[in-house]
Amino acid sequence: MKVPLLDLKSQYQSIKEEILKVTEEIFESQYFILGPWVEALEKEIAGYCFSKHAVGVSSGTDALLISLMAADIGPQDTVITTPYTFFATAGSISRVGARPIFVDVDPDTYNISPEGLDNAIAAMTGKERARLRAVIPVHLYGQCADMDPILKIAAEYNLLVIEDAAQAVGAEYREKRAGSMGDFGCFSFFPSKNLGAFGDGGLVTTSSDDFYDKLRILRVHGAHPKYYHSLTGGNFRLDAIQAAIVSIKLKFLDSWTRARQENARKYRELFASSGLADVVRLPVEKENRHIYNQFVISLEEKRDELRLFLDDAGIGTEVYYPVPLHLQKCFSDLDHKKGDFPVAEHAALHSLALPVYPELSDDQQEYVVDKIKAFYGC
Ligand SMILES: *Cc1c(COP(=O)(O)O)cnc(C)c1O
Repeated sequence: MKVPLLDLKSQYQSIKEEILKVTEEIFESQYFILGPWVEALEKEIAGYCFSKHAVGVSSGTDALLISLMAADIGPQDTVITTPYTFFATAGSISRVGARPIFVDVDPDTYNISPEGLDNAIAAMTGKERARLRAVIPVHLYGQCADMDPILKIAAEYNLLVIEDAAQAVGAEYREKRAGSMGDFGCFSFFPSKNLGAFGDGGLVTTSSDDFYDKLRILRVHGAHPKYYHSLTGGNFRLDAIQAAIVSIKLKFLDSWTRARQENARKYRELFASSGLADVVRLPVEKENRHIYNQFVISLEEKRDELRLFLDDAGIGTEVYYPVPLHLQKCFSDLDHKKGDFPVAEHAALHSLALPVYPELSDDQQEYVVDKIKAFYGC
């Protein structure tokens, strides 16, 4: 049996007619960049995320970058984030010239630890605190970070909050949606995200009118009006085709999310009766709307051997992420060493993402758990 980590082909088959229809419309119109399809998507996503505004941009990475630019964060500044995330979260901080400061993650959720955040700021000198401008919590794997204490700490120290919601479109924290709690919410339409385009794309949500205006100007090289530049922006525009495709997919997102949640529930049931309780740690679901962009288990022993074994059995898995960001070569000037963020380092060595995409069948899930049982000899 084949069980890929993600199967976008079957999803495409279910929406093919609508997609072909709208792409043909766009080809006929020859209107490719920004415009009515992008505006329509922005309205829909702002509503979906319980946010006032949305600005379509070129990728999730650019969503982070343009948010930092709109917040005027630059070479004098520092920004706190997690070392256990996709590279772009910290990479964007560096790209505006600011310095990332890492705070370790919670061992249950792998999201930034609010206690760790509080302690890190409390330990700063007055000068260091004055340089600190923002915090970027990441809603990893589709589950929101513990936002109430994070927002409280941010308010106390006058920090902006940029939510990296690239993996968390529609995830909820106490009735609030990812992207609506901070000053900016950054989303990605990379094809492997729960709401994926047919290429790169992204979006920023904000409920601030001022940031909304600034994001729209920065997206087109800082021009307002055209050819008059009071800010230095970039080309952060979203294509009409990508926006139209994402709009179609958005109508199905809740049903796909329910299917992912159902698959997660089914895994829990299968693992509970598998005799693997001592070997496999299941993801901890703390918030009430986890959207399961990934279903990540933790294996105290032989994670890499298991991965090869599953690969031989036709089962796709992935390690998100094998090297925590504080140990990446490009951040060597931050002077970190092994042991600085033990929870993130442990997760990097022991976590494994299993297939959880909506179209996954019961047979496929049983096959995955059976193979893990066979590997550990249970
Ligand atoms: C995917 C992802 C990004 C970057 O999004 P792109 O659209 O690929 O640029 C940023 N942060 C996190 C947590 C992600 O998972």
